[in-house]
Amino acid sequence: MAMVTVIRNAKVYQPEYAGVKDILVMNGKIAAVGENLKADFGGCVEVEELDAEGMAAVPGFIDSHEHIMGGGGEGGFATRTPEANLKDLISNGITTVVGCIGTDSVARDMTALLAKAHALEAEGITAYAYTGSYRVPVQTLTDSLMKDIMMLDKVIGVGEVAVSDHRSSQPSFEEFARIAADARVAGMLSGKAGIVNVHLGDSARKMDLIERVIHETEIPASQFLPTHVNRNAALFENCLELAKEGLTIDFTGNEDIDYWETICDEVRVCRGIRRLLDLGISSDRFTISSDGQGSMPVFNAAGEYQGIGIGKASCLLKEVRECVQKEGIPLEIAVKGITSNVASVLKLGAKGRLKAGFDADICLLAEDTLELKTVMARGQLVVRDGVQQVFGTFERA
Ligand code: ZN
Repeated sequence: MAMVTVIRNAKVYQPEYAGVKDILVMNGKIAAVGENLKADFGGCVEVEELDAEGMAAVPGFIDSHEHIMGGGGEGGFATRTPEANLKDLISNGITTVVGCIGTDSVARDMTALLAKAHALEAEGITAYAYTGSYRVPVQTLTDSLMKDIMMLDKVIGVGEVAVSDHRSSQPSFEEFARIAADARVAGMLSGKAGIVNVHLGDSARKMDLIERVIHETEIPASQFLPTHVNRNAALFENCLELAKEGLTIDFTGNEDIDYWETICDEVRVCRGIRRLLDLGISSDRFTISSDGQGSMPVFNAAGEYQGIGIGKASCLLKEVRECVQKEGIPLEIAVKGITSNVASVLKLGAKGRLKAGFDADICLLAEDTLELKTVMARGQLVVRDGVQQVFGTFERA
């Protein structure tokens, strides 16, 4: 691996559009973004030059909600989903991922989740995790939620805590508020987000619990990152009301976008983001995550299991592309949802921006089609011209 890489003549989105620039990468970090950058070390350092003419350079994608060690199981043991491979992530531009458990916190636990996060990190990307699962009381690795967040480097919050769902553990208001309080203080004490990632179900109670915590306690909206906000129109409208009060809301992307809109009555992500922007809500207030490797069970009106699919990490870029191509949302706005907005709400200081001092996580997209071409993770070219360069331990070229 070259210690120094110069990406030449890319249209740089920081994510704010900064014009055609070079990006100088040294030791895994962005050293400079500018015009005609010189990288002359007198021959004592290997310098790799990468021509990015006709390409958009955007920050590497951050997936804030992925079942990295597998999830599911809601249709019985045979429906447990497989874990994510390095390829699933890097070939879709994801250079940072946050792992979560899901419904099953009996046959899956924090030890296994953290082991998987460490494995992905060793293979070349950046990985974090939420402590806990759908269920309350939160099942942690240490003896407390606060200790997990404060003392385990990879743990940046708690979740996905399930509410308004028949699969939820039905936490009371007091239980739910206590989780947010503990996560908040543990986050303050350790310089982390201490975010509460909340799984929203389909029920009429919608955002009820989050709304009450924001309005009845001193805990601010910024403590929460509710996900699956686009699962139905009524829920989405409720989420928009709180986004006006400063809540960041997380859309779940879809691989088969038409299916989920027409058959399952979801709010199409690009339409939802358009609506958020049209209401005058800040473009900092939305994120998109993949729910990758999670099972996507279909239930009938009686809550009975009907069939199953699996979440794919490829949906992140697909949804951003739809925002640009279908809704005319500028790339520099749309891409915030999978880069800088995620880094801000999760307080990932070195992530999500193409600026000097930030981690060299970079995606190069074809300017016209927005197809993913090249991916750099922590300064290493992991995908080049659509060809995977770095492989997981059990993957082959
Ligand atoms: Zn969920």
